[in-house]
Amino acid sequence: MDSTNTRVDQSWIQSLLGQVIFTGLLSLGLSWMLRPISIGAATPPSTSTSHSAQPQTQPQTQPQTQPATSVAVTETAASPQFDETRAWRDLYEIVERGQRYYGAPKRPEAIQALVGHLRAAGGEVTLQTFTQREPKSQVDYQLTNIVARFNPERSVRVILGSHWDTRLWAEEDADVIKRELPITGANDGSSGVAVLLEIARQIQALQLKGLGVDVVLFDGEEFGRPGSQDYCAGSRYFAQHLTQYYPQVKPTGVIVIDMVGDRDLTFPPEQSSIAKARELTTLIWREGVRLRAPAFIAGLRGTPGVRPRSRWIIDDHTPFQKLNIPAVLVIDLDYAQWHTHQDTMDRVSAASLKQTGDVLIASLLRLDQNAVNSSSRLSHERPDLKPTTQHKSP
Ligand SMILES: [Zn+2]
Repeated sequence: MDSTNTRVDQSWIQSLLGQVIFTGLLSLGLSWMLRPISIGAATPPSTSTSHSAQPQTQPQTQPQTQPATSVAVTETAASPQFDETRAWRDLYEIVERGQRYYGAPKRPEAIQALVGHLRAAGGEVTLQTFTQREPKSQVDYQLTNIVARFNPERSVRVILGSHWDTRLWAEEDADVIKRELPITGANDGSSGVAVLLEIARQIQALQLKGLGVDVVLFDGEEFGRPGSQDYCAGSRYFAQHLTQYYPQVKPTGVIVIDMVGDRDLTFPPEQSSIAKARELTTLIWREGVRLRAPAFIAGLRGTPGVRPRSRWIIDDHTPFQKLNIPAVLVIDLDYAQWHTHQDTMDRVSAASLKQTGDVLIASLLRLDQNAVNSSSRLSHERPDLKPTTQHKSP
């Protein structure tokens, strides 16, 4: 990259930050209709009417080549790099191992594999197991949140979360007969996990100075029929029993990723995140713009002729928002294969996993800087991260 281009790019980025982040995000946040919906109740994209009900294609074994529009890695050349080849291999293995809806026979195997990866990454891993009654059948199911702690001694902590369960139904599928069958969930229930496994491997190399990180894989996000209140069973339980992991102080922030593997990835800032965690939302999207991650830029600006569709979404970040913890959801819900049998490996890409992973790693580094600055700051100026000592756990 020559210096002229650098100046142009920096100018463009600063312009985007100035115009889009600071004013655009604010005005978008105000102008977008604040209409609470659950993922189960969201209107599917219009393209979803064209689903075929053909058997799933064979998952790809190799990551695709990075497209020209992928994240510019030079911005973080000094930082550990998100390895999309490894993330893609994880995703492939997660999907190949089998579906993970509640009651699925392969769940213990899946838990064991996820725990193994997180321990190998250096995490202090524990399982949070609980029983959840399915309201329609009145059958009790055992659900399991998987928690991996990095730098567990630190009090300033951030949660990176994603759900590891997949959906028992395919209510959006064009084939009515197949709507009662469990989905593969390559994007929904697998892509976020693959990204977090790779981030977990990078955490120690990041050499965070003030921040502790908890990677939490939530169970039971899909625990619920459309219109029910049963979604997000794992994160609700985790938030209700927060003192189990946070006896003194609450986590300073929560970043949940869900459906981050779409080949055509776009991340409009989610509305509840803007409303309830504006600083953390701005920090993440600012890193997305700085790294020139197309999904984050398109999510703010739209693509030609298409306005980004920001929604108020209920997901695993919601229970934390109810505890007044800044919690952000990064999601691309404009995914025609959502809750269908076409949510398979051929619809997701390694480049999309990398975009998400790179921006999350950059966000972690920024949060770490803030944690160090706020702990060394003697004055009462307002930090990006509020000192956790101000928050007493319930
Ligand atoms: Zn889902």
